[in-house]
Amino acid sequence: MAEQTLSIIKPDGVKKGLTGKIISIFEENGFEIKAIKKVWLTKKQAEGFYYIHKERPFFGSLVDFMTEGPIVPMVLFRENAILKNREIMGATNPKDAAEGTIRKLFAESIERNVVHGSDSLESARFEVAFFFNIFEIL
Ligand code: ADP
Ligand code: MG
Repeated sequence: MAEQTLSIIKPDGVKKGLTGKIISIFEENGFEIKAIKKVWLTKKQAEGFYYIHKERPFFGSLVDFMTEGPIVPMVLFRENAILKNREIMGATNPKDAAEGTIRKLFAESIERNVVHGSDSLESARFEVAFFFNIFEIL
């Protein structure tokens, strides 16, 4: 079934000039970009986006990282988008990521790992609505 997922190019990816390259990878993999923008989150906004991780030891550091510069959130659409996006992103830790995945190619560390991707239908719904309203998703 065709579905939407939320991808984010994180501050490290934007700073390294990887935005265009990563968008190309999505398009080459059959994703339609239904919405895209560039934003710089406040701490409060980043804490809200990652509320699910608030008890984790890396939460504070993750929020600092995600607010150190602009990010590029986008809504991706295709068959099986959530799983397919997770597949082409690669594992959270680039050391464990499969060859050819975005994180294997570009990530520095388990934290600075270039991209975010929704991990379930429920999180995709929350995350898409966090950044975009229905008039912005085309
Ligand atoms: P993913 O982004 O692959 O879904 P998680 O949801 O588990 O991974 O974690 C969210 C983000 O938090 C990761 O992408 C990464 O930036 C950061 N992170 C996860 N685990 C760690 C860790 N052990 N140390 C530092 N940062 C981490
Ligand atoms: Mg996650």
